[in-house]
Amino acid sequence: MADTLLSRFLRYVQIDTQSDERSSSCPSTPGQWNLLRLLKAELDTLGAANVRLTDAGYLMATIPATNLPAATKKSGARSPRIQAPRLALFAHVDTAPDFSGKDVKPIVHSNYQGGAIKFPGNPRLLLDETVAPHLLDCKGKDIITASGTTLLGADDKAGVAILMTLAETLLTQPRIPHGDIRLCFTPDEEIGRGTDKLNLKDLDADVAYTLDGGTPGEISWETFSGDAAVVEIEGTSTHPGEAGTKGMVSALHLAAKLLCALPREKCAPESTTGRQGFIHPTRIEAGVEKATIKFILRDFQMPGLEEKGRILQGLCKGLQAATPGARVSCKIRKQYRNMAYWLEKDMRPVDLARQAIRSIGIEPTDHPVRGGTDGSRLTESGLPAPNLFAGMHNIHGPLEWVALQDMELSVKTCVKLAEIWGSATSR
Ligand SMILES: [Zn+2]
Repeated sequence: MADTLLSRFLRYVQIDTQSDERSSSCPSTPGQWNLLRLLKAELDTLGAANVRLTDAGYLMATIPATNLPAATKKSGARSPRIQAPRLALFAHVDTAPDFSGKDVKPIVHSNYQGGAIKFPGNPRLLLDETVAPHLLDCKGKDIITASGTTLLGADDKAGVAILMTLAETLLTQPRIPHGDIRLCFTPDEEIGRGTDKLNLKDLDADVAYTLDGGTPGEISWETFSGDAAVVEIEGTSTHPGEAGTKGMVSALHLAAKLLCALPREKCAPESTTGRQGFIHPTRIEAGVEKATIKFILRDFQMPGLEEKGRILQGLCKGLQAATPGARVSCKIRKQYRNMAYWLEKDMRPVDLARQAIRSIGIEPTDHPVRGGTDGSRLTESGLPAPNLFAGMHNIHGPLEWVALQDMELSVKTCVKLAEIWGSATSR
């Protein structure tokens, strides 16, 4: 399995698939089509069924069910065959806009023996256990990094390579029992549009997993809930020489005041960890006449998220009251919700993932995500979709890395998941 998984991964990361928030097309960048078309051709060659690339850049395929043992009734009598729930597995083809994904030159550090990994393209960079604690568990493994000038793109080409290897494994080993498995490769996850144009009827699945996580054993079934806020401040422009008598109101200055008034010690991304949420200004455009500040609000629990909205709105109201000459508005819109709100009602997708992970000899761990995943939106739309480990670390920057053997563990977990869901019954 190893050579195929490695060669796939190295092939995929060299295709520039960085997504772009400023683009309104779907996928947002042409590079994503290059990978999607390559994957489509590879799935056709592997003999997958119903391979289809939609106009919006969603690639779906079926690994048809193998012969499942008929379900047995408690009495021991054979019951008519019951259709197993349809399992879907997701990976996203785009890489983060945060750091260059052009001309990725992957480097394989075979049989890693500890110590710092250096990067030929940037001698100032060092990858060691202070920034990557999981490296301590990786002695003897093959570590893959980029060269120092780009990200690697293991997020989420690790997931893509894992699912393609799974497809090859299941299609060439029909003795492994499983139900129909749907594969879905999505564009633009990194800019929050990963499921915008996905037709869940087309996908036709009962349960799903995204392969977009880190350390072996990790399952994410809790995510932040997220809202976005836009604050607009209208001021009054005058000649600065006459500002004292002509009533200048500087929107730019008011925007700065608002940012300074945020309770940063208890709710900025930099000062929070674990289950704490935050208010995060992400962009500002400001002049004397007008200022626009964009924020994201995050919290695991809805009361916490609502409180953050109230804090921001309260500050805007205070600013408005203190500055009658300005107009201050604050609009908050929903982005996504913590998938735990739905999964807690039926934990079977999480429980069976834990069972699959245990069956390959590792202990499952829960990993709440301080962010959203494609699975947050899918789960809310009625398709439960926890996230599973794919081996990636230090993502979205030049230190990104993955261990080949961790990706192999992920493939093995997916094979087990296919078997376990294949013998599960629909509810
Ligand atoms: Zn990702």
